[in-house]
Amino acid sequence: MNLTSDHTIIVSPVGKVENALCEHVGKQLRQKFGFQTDVVDSLIDIKFALNEERRQYHSTPIIEKLAVAAPARALKVLAITDVDLFIPILTHVYGEAQLGGKAAIVSTFRLKDDLKGVAADAFEQRIEKEAIHELGHTFKLLHCKDHQCIMHYCRSLRDVDRKTDSLCRYCQVMLEDDLKRIQMTKHK
Ligand SMILES: [Zn+2]
Ligand SMILES: [Zn+2]
Repeated sequence: MNLTSDHTIIVSPVGKVENALCEHVGKQLRQKFGFQTDVVDSLIDIKFALNEERRQYHSTPIIEKLAVAAPARALKVLAITDVDLFIPILTHVYGEAQLGGKAAIVSTFRLKDDLKGVAADAFEQRIEKEAIHELGHTFKLLHCKDHQCIMHYCRSLRDVDRKTDSLCRYCQVMLEDDLKRIQMTKHK
């Protein structure tokens, strides 16, 4: 694909997230989606999304704000945060994305649990997988029944650890369709 500088995936930390982690995730996203990635300073303050009773942050308004705050060159924007995220119908989420939209977020909060007896780099792998999964939604990918596929919906960390960091053949075709569409609209 012939990519231009306006095809950039922006990665932005929110809260206490190490830059090295953002850079690492950016690299994975570049490999997986073929776009250049750019790590920038925190784009938004998410205090407004705190639910005092739940002591968690509502992810939906966060990604809405993120989409607006993203620089013009951003094809997509992914925030990485250390706070616990929720949507009202669930106890927590590992992340959320705008389906076919611009913004996504992933949280490291729950991915740090249960690291005993799993691979030494399990934490990094989980973040990578969840970042690719959420970005996948912004490229219109839906949840996939294939347990191995990165677009499989995970209820637990076991599910996350079990799935691969790859798209199944079906999801790969769907992704390529959306990438083609993006290419065409940019050249109009
Ligand atoms: Zn999902
Ligand atoms: Zn799939």
